Amino acid sequence: MPSRIVISEDLWVNLPEGFGNGRTVVYDPSLVGDRQRLLRLGPDTEALIVRNQTRVDEELLENFPNLRIVGRLGVGLDNIDLTACQRRGIPVVSARGFNANAVAEYVMACLLQHVRPLFRWNEAVRRGAWDRMAAMGEEVYGKTLGLIGIGDIGQRVATRARAMGLTVVAYDPFILPSHSVVRDVGVALISLDDLLRSSHFVSVHVPLTDTTRHLLNGPALAKMREDSVLINTSRGGIVDEDALAEVLVNFPTRFAYLDVRSTEPPGPDDRLRSLDNVCLTPHIAGITVESSHEVAWFVLTQVMEQLEGRKAMGIVP
Ligand code: NAD
Repeated sequence: MPSRIVISEDLWVNLPEGFGNGRTVVYDPSLVGDRQRLLRLGPDTEALIVRNQTRVDEELLENFPNLRIVGRLGVGLDNIDLTACQRRGIPVVSARGFNANAVAEYVMACLLQHVRPLFRWNEAVRRGAWDRMAAMGEEVYGKTLGLIGIGDIGQRVATRARAMGLTVVAYDPFILPSHSVVRDVGVALISLDDLLRSSHFVSVHVPLTDTTRHLLNGPALAKMREDSVLINTSRGGIVDEDALAEVLVNFPTRFAYLDVRSTEPPGPDDRLRSLDNVCLTPHIAGITVESSHEVAWFVLTQVMEQLEGRKAMGIVP
């Protein structure tokens, strides 16, 4: 009887004592970088828990003939071939919503840091400067935030931004005008073109799919305001990075906060790294002490529920 649980990426919390209820648990984050070793563990494995780097594709599934569940420590599913899993009747559990607050607060940090760059003035004061004019900031109050995608994360960003007095507009063809984010929070649903043209801040919250890949290409980026700020916490592939680099070089008044990249980590010839009007972080928008505990707790619990014969919650439809 197969009785192994494999965790191929970092949990970012300690593995709870007794996890697995007697099954063998292989918790080895180095497996993500050693595909062949991971595949060799396949035959006796009934649960595989991954983050966003392990490719769960046809090849892997063929090597895991007894797999009964896949747990995804996070939200984006672009590393998992859902169709292949469904064909084999293998449910995928994701931690949907459990790191949404973390990403929403990261976006708010970008907004506030952009208009009030405290650390820059802190450095100036430590150097002996006391230039109050030079340190004059702006306000986000009254500015427009455009959200591309208004699901779990977009909605939380919208609530927080509305509380700070921003006008919030959104492009999401799957959200109805009857949704509470429109009716109660006051978000206006508009076209992507209108959003790009009117927003001071544009924040991306769509999954990476065939339709969203390079959604923000050269022509789309060209529609944005000359003082606009792009925030991407979604997936790097949604933005054409070459086109973005071009725009940022040509318009030094524009700015981009990029938590995610098309290749992670980016290579040494990464052009965006050399630009002053870019802020780069290593895919950490969703990672906080709180979210790491909640994501791990939820996925580990639901994987066990499924293995013990009870239906897991959070199965991707
Ligand atoms: P979600 O599924 O709740 O929301 C996504 C929204 O995008 C949905 O409302 C959907 O209707 C909309 N959408 C889909 N296709 C679209 C399109 N072509 N145009 C416009 N809207 C479209 O997902 P979420 O929890 O809000 O997460 C969004 C993404 O954020 C995830 O897919 C993941 O890639 C990314 N993410 C990143 C981090 C991080 O640490 N940087 C953490 C969590 C999630």
